[in-house]
Amino acid sequence: MENFELMEKYGHEQIIFCSNQESGLRAIIAIHDTSLGPALGGTRMMNYETVDDAVRDALRLSRTMTYKSAVAGLNFGGGKAVIIGDAEKDKNELLFRTFGKYVDGLAGRYITAEDVGTDVKDMEYVRMETKYVTGISKAIGGSGDPSPVTAYGVYVGMKACAKAKWGSDSLRGRKVAVQGAGHVSRYLCEHLYNEGAEIYVTDIYEEKLKQLLETIKAHIVKPDEIYETDAEIFAPSGLGQSINDSTIPKFKFEIIAGAANNQLEDETKHGSLLHEKGILYAPDYVVNAGGLINVANELEGYRQDRAMKQAESIYEIVQNVIKVSKEENIPTTVASNRIAEKRLKNIGGIRKIYSGDSKFSGRLGELARR
Ligand code: NAD
Repeated sequence: MENFELMEKYGHEQIIFCSNQESGLRAIIAIHDTSLGPALGGTRMMNYETVDDAVRDALRLSRTMTYKSAVAGLNFGGGKAVIIGDAEKDKNELLFRTFGKYVDGLAGRYITAEDVGTDVKDMEYVRMETKYVTGISKAIGGSGDPSPVTAYGVYVGMKACAKAKWGSDSLRGRKVAVQGAGHVSRYLCEHLYNEGAEIYVTDIYEEKLKQLLETIKAHIVKPDEIYETDAEIFAPSGLGQSINDSTIPKFKFEIIAGAANNQLEDETKHGSLLHEKGILYAPDYVVNAGGLINVANELEGYRQDRAMKQAESIYEIVQNVIKVSKEENIPTTVASNRIAEKRLKNIGGIRKIYSGDSKFSGRLGELARR
């Protein structure tokens, strides 16, 4: 499909192709929708096989950011950038400062942050060229690692599912299968452990599991066996697309709530399949919005207690998604998309009325003025 057709199909506003021979930068910035505010979303660095693959990824990810922000009640739009390159070998100061220049050129229509393949250090180079970046280190006034807030959001989202499924949101004695033992899982497992849940965890790296077992007790499971675990709750928190045609038939889970992005290989098909099987699925972009809440907070002068408080609202947001899903007998994936679209339409609409003032204060307050 041609780029314009793709943009029209999914409602994107703008794609920016960035090419610079001196630094070797080849990047794509996709801005999906700015009706709620400036487009906010991280920069992914990956060795895409083709430029088309990179464009498709940027378009898909930026659209998810619009929905994530809308459902979380944030006043940001959806954007995402991808840098084509090997995150292990091709990173340097020049590359990220050059990228920062392009971001700066968008004058606040797009605010970037770290994502898969980029980290806080890379964003500090970007910060040298533009103020339109968030997720920078605590040492220079940023919010640092978003994982604790993401994990807390997943945890409360999981509890909201438990309440809907079993009438109590206590996870004491519940068996939870956690896929991935990385940054978010570490904090998630601590919450689960402290509440008395029985944890089954897997990772492709033994080292990660060893680190996790230093702070909590858990059963270790082989990566392929996690899908068949005799657990009531599944928390996919490694990489995306682990819920697909070959894994769903193995599930005995009653609830799925995890941190990974794009957990369903095919949102429509697999969302419906889980719904038909009676598995309560907490849509990924709803429960993992804590990361976005965290970086959005940085733009207003970061305080982790405020970010945590906001992440706590994921409990009610998940409850609402489940309510709409039950009332209309639709998959939770469809319900959350509808809630997002409604807010985009309603709140996006009032932004057309010029108020002459900014709703934000702090470092990037002026961004909200349109
Ligand atoms: P991470 O890289 O620290 O952890 C991911 C872990 O998953 C790694 O230890 C990796 O080895 C493991 N893994 C990868 N594939 C696996 C597989 N097939 N089976 C078992 N383990 C596997 O990443 P993270 O920051 O903890 O993020 C986890 C997921 O949550 C990612 O999908 C990320 O995009 C998403 N997410 C993270 C945040 C955040 O705040 N960090 C926010 C929103 C979404």
